[in-house]
Amino acid sequence: MSEQRPPGTRFSDTHGREVRYLRVSVTDRCNLRCLYCRGGMETFIPHSRILRYEELERLIDLITTHGVEKVRLTGGEPFARKGFTDFLLDLRARHPALDIRITTNGTLALPHIDALRRAGVNAVNLSLDTLDRATYERITGRDLFAKTRDCLDALLEARIPLKINAVALRGVNDHELPAFVELAATHPVDVRFIEFMPVGEGSRWRPERFWPASEILADLSRLAALRPVQNTARSAGPARMYALAGGLGRIGLITPLSHHFCGVCNRLRITSDGRLRTCLFADREYRLRAILRHPRLGPDVALRVIESAARRKPLGADILNEQGSVRRRMISIGG
Ligand code: SAM
Repeated sequence: MSEQRPPGTRFSDTHGREVRYLRVSVTDRCNLRCLYCRGGMETFIPHSRILRYEELERLIDLITTHGVEKVRLTGGEPFARKGFTDFLLDLRARHPALDIRITTNGTLALPHIDALRRAGVNAVNLSLDTLDRATYERITGRDLFAKTRDCLDALLEARIPLKINAVALRGVNDHELPAFVELAATHPVDVRFIEFMPVGEGSRWRPERFWPASEILADLSRLAALRPVQNTARSAGPARMYALAGGLGRIGLITPLSHHFCGVCNRLRITSDGRLRTCLFADREYRLRAILRHPRLGPDVALRVIESAARRKPLGADILNEQGSVRRRMISIGG
């Protein structure tokens, strides 16, 4: 085939950003029906259009030889896909030094905590919007709070670094700030509030219930003494983090809308059906699955497409301002 990119060459874009981080949605299937994500939606992408594990491995191998040092496995719900932990262990065996993280709702993960430990997972992001069973059922449509809570405790016990992500939902979980502050004060976890994002048709969340980070911060400041802290290189991310006086954990705010972080965005995403997305908010996608499965194309062509797509990675906040929302559903992008 034509000229190869030398391994180690990084993907960079016209805004001076370098890609260091890949998010991979391993499935669009999820056992929860979160009202802001896919309330009521029951349709899934057919299996034949979901990337097979070996295809995922091929793409991850390809991308990580070009400067990507962190991979997040997400979904749908990653533990809802059969064979997920075997895939994870294989991935670790192939990439001993890779920073591998998982985003999960925790409801199916409990039997797999030991595998996560053996795989040396660098951190788990646990999605937990409420600490109250009835509110959990109201948000997710499922009475599975206890499962997530048990998963949280098991991850702590296994000493797997843990972040809790809570989508900020005005009128639903805003009264729970004291409980979340207490959780962060008494456990070594980062509790991060994420602003609701207008992603995916099918969301039943009403935008007027948006709870902006500025208001969360004001509410938090009335509850606890917060000290802004710099992220370390290892835990670098879009969250603004605050230490709690005398607390074990920290509180954070992720503000994709009110203070976007496009300028430092270093991510690419692969959707569960094998498309490359260079930005969460940009609906332009690149069909990697078709390239991998085409008898005359394959990894070299995929690499060239990734490189050229990465070069044109847009500033998503501008796109969102223009179009108002994102078409693709969050469960197949992976968040
Ligand atoms: N099922 C896994 C989980 O719950 O963590 C992984 C996939 S889920 C799509 C990833 C994250 O996206 C979750 O924390 C979820 O709360 C968040 N999310 C989904 N829709 C969102 C939205 N419209 N705005 C903000 N966050 C959203």
